[in-house]
Amino acid sequence: MTVVVEHCAIATVDAAGTEHEDGHIVIEDGRIAALGPGSTDTDGERIDGRGCLATPGLVNCHHHLYQWATRGTFQQATLFEWLTGLYPVWVHLDGEIERAAARAGLAALLLSGCSTSMDHHYVFPREAGDLLAIEIEAARDLHVRFHATRGSMDLGRSDGGLPPDEITEDRDAILQASADAIDRFHDPAPDAMLRIALAPCSPFSSTRDLMRETAEYARERGVRLHTHMAETKDEEAFCLEQFGVRPVEYLEQLGWLGDDVWLAHCIHLDEREVRRFGETATGVAHCPSSNARLGAGIAPVAALTAAGAPVGLGVDGAASNEAGELGGELRQALLVARLRGGPQALTAREALALGTIHGARCLGREAEIGSLEPGKLADIALWDLADTDHAGIADPVAALVLGPRPRPKHLLVGGRAVVEDGHLTTGDEETIARELATASARLQEVAV
Ligand SMILES: [Zn+2]
Repeated sequence: MTVVVEHCAIATVDAAGTEHEDGHIVIEDGRIAALGPGSTDTDGERIDGRGCLATPGLVNCHHHLYQWATRGTFQQATLFEWLTGLYPVWVHLDGEIERAAARAGLAALLLSGCSTSMDHHYVFPREAGDLLAIEIEAARDLHVRFHATRGSMDLGRSDGGLPPDEITEDRDAILQASADAIDRFHDPAPDAMLRIALAPCSPFSSTRDLMRETAEYARERGVRLHTHMAETKDEEAFCLEQFGVRPVEYLEQLGWLGDDVWLAHCIHLDEREVRRFGETATGVAHCPSSNARLGAGIAPVAALTAAGAPVGLGVDGAASNEAGELGGELRQALLVARLRGGPQALTAREALALGTIHGARCLGREAEIGSLEPGKLADIALWDLADTDHAGIADPVAALVLGPRPRPKHLLVGGRAVVEDGHLTTGDEETIARELATASARLQEVAV
């Protein structure tokens, strides 16, 4: 089946930064077959891109979908205060709440131009059911390219960790569940819609043994590794006190720097640590809105990319960023980079690269997604720039990144339209919102 997108501006985000003022994209069997300036005679179903900019679908590198059910709470808290307040609520998570939250979070991502998302799920209350399978089903239904991570916590309060013991798990059980997740769900194929990675939660909620054994096991099975890193000064103080080293050195001791690893936040890094990220090609999931919401600080994005590290964007869990739309993080990343490093620190095109090809590198998918090039998967966002929000800005990439609230007119995942004329085709937005409201209210009620 052939689909032709035409009459649109195109920002390919390829290595040469190729752009077309007016161009076309030919899609065959879910992949980009051809792309170039002007129109084409190729037969096929037509998508009229007039007034639009085509970019690669955005890639979300950090999220906790279940948190859609606990938004708007602990509004003035630091990370540790916020976590300590929310852990007792999350203990009551169940399958129905997980399903509603995952569907809402994934719908918000699609409606903001995101075609590939990861999720870091690390809360597995006993009796809650198969929460990982439930979110995976939500991603399948809505047709999001999905990297689910089997997260974990085994360092409870009684052993000096931050979370209450009742939402931690036993290390053997975690490793068994990690093996099961890979066996059941991981698809190594180049056009995979679903992959698994392993993700102990953080230095203050996962033991040293869990971190080391997870890394060994992930490498044995050929899956990627993810965790939170250097998010706050409190975390740094915790690592210095517990392990006698800074967070990054702690990770390095455990074999956790490498091109099969991507880490959320990475705000409090010194120059040597930034260099190590570059030398080891360790990825960073930069979450500017969440970092601002918790007052955690601003990651050294320009220094990290200059050092050679891939820096993707993440919305982070929606309990620390009530907006979970990835499109808006392009602008947010640009603004906070400039607050840190001045107006030259990040360009609109560099911000778009973070949200696309850098994100693809973080997930190990740069050969398949993250740029618009013949042979790559047809994950394509078509942004309407003719509306009142964006009209009149001559540079389409500036309109997308600097302009307000980008929402795609169309979004294709593997050539299939999941957003059409600004609406989801794979789920009913009203039902999703209603089920989320019900689930959130029930969770707040049972948690009192
Ligand atoms: Zn997070």
